[in-house]
Amino acid sequence: MIPLLDLQAQYEGIRAEILAAVNRVLESQQFILGPEVEAFESEIAAYCQAPYAIGVSSGSDALLAALMALDVGPGDEVITTPYSFFATAGAAARLGARPVFVDIEPRAYNIDPELVEAAITPRTRAILPVHLYGQAAHLAPLLEIAARRGLALIEDAAQAIGAEYQGRRVGALGTVGCFSFFPSKNLGAYGDAGLLTCADAALAERLRLLRVHGAAPKYHHRLVGGNFRLDALQAAVLRVKLKYLDDWTEARRQNAARYRRLFEESGLLASGAVGLPEDLGYGRHIYHQYVLRVQRRDELQAFLKARQIGTEVYYPVPLHLQECFRNLGYAHGDFPEAERAAAETLAIPIYPELSEVQQEEVVARIAEFYA
Ligand SMILES: *Cc1c(COP(=O)(O)O)cnc(C)c1O
Repeated sequence: MIPLLDLQAQYEGIRAEILAAVNRVLESQQFILGPEVEAFESEIAAYCQAPYAIGVSSGSDALLAALMALDVGPGDEVITTPYSFFATAGAAARLGARPVFVDIEPRAYNIDPELVEAAITPRTRAILPVHLYGQAAHLAPLLEIAARRGLALIEDAAQAIGAEYQGRRVGALGTVGCFSFFPSKNLGAYGDAGLLTCADAALAERLRLLRVHGAAPKYHHRLVGGNFRLDALQAAVLRVKLKYLDDWTEARRQNAARYRRLFEESGLLASGAVGLPEDLGYGRHIYHQYVLRVQRRDELQAFLKARQIGTEVYYPVPLHLQECFRNLGYAHGDFPEAERAAAETLAIPIYPELSEVQQEEVVARIAEFYA
């Protein structure tokens, strides 16, 4: 069996350190924020090359708090991609703002900067690109548009911890960055957790306030925020894992290079049956997912499942076609590249502990399917 992700294998290598870290928190009996969270924040800020890092309860709450900090609300519009996890657009909708979708460019699956300007209206408040699958969105043109039009740029970096764009880590390149430590992310907690990054001191202060119901001091509420706090237990786990993150990322990158060689040798690329993820050369791609573009996707997935090879479709229904967004008035055909990606892509295992033999097996089975 080759799972899509093997967190057990990762745990084997760090068990003693994790248990010691968890025990340290239990002995301290300090479970919410506190020194463990502060230590994590300063370590992860350095890792992300961000002046400020604020630990929060999840990636979804990071997005929500970022939009709240920027006063996005009813009547406002947020330009984003229709091809992402739901939380990206859901955060805007939860605040009464309207997600305005712009199609992706088909090679990296990220928002197409050339289509953004036409979507701006007097109500637009922010551009919200996603660094999907671990590759940075093309930020330079987006930052230029945001600056010229007076818009915030919020990075959904949930899948991109440690990814780089033109030599700099994602997350603090725009106004604010949002990360997720959902267990299956490249840096995964043992439960829900997330992070905000930014370069502006006043914004960081606002985000810290929003995290604790806007209270400073306690019981004196300057803003209406929420409970967006990071648990000390999760911070302790993340501090252990952060030390290994670059090794894990390097292993993912090596696995990606090996897949490229194996797929080339298989003849599947020449025949056009399979397309590989493209690294557009903006900077370090961290391969959160390794996503193929394939013919007869659903049949291939069933074939691999029957042979105990784990795969996943990210994401089968683009956001503009979700039932809960029917009120936005979008229709089939509005974003052809996102719709094509939703129909043609399949993620295969890329996790760091994946062996060469396992990769050969995955490619051999795919070749068997198309033979
Ligand atoms: C995982 C993810 C989120 C949400 O993170 P949670 O921690 O699960 O709330 C948001 N955006 C993207 C692109 C994600 O992949």
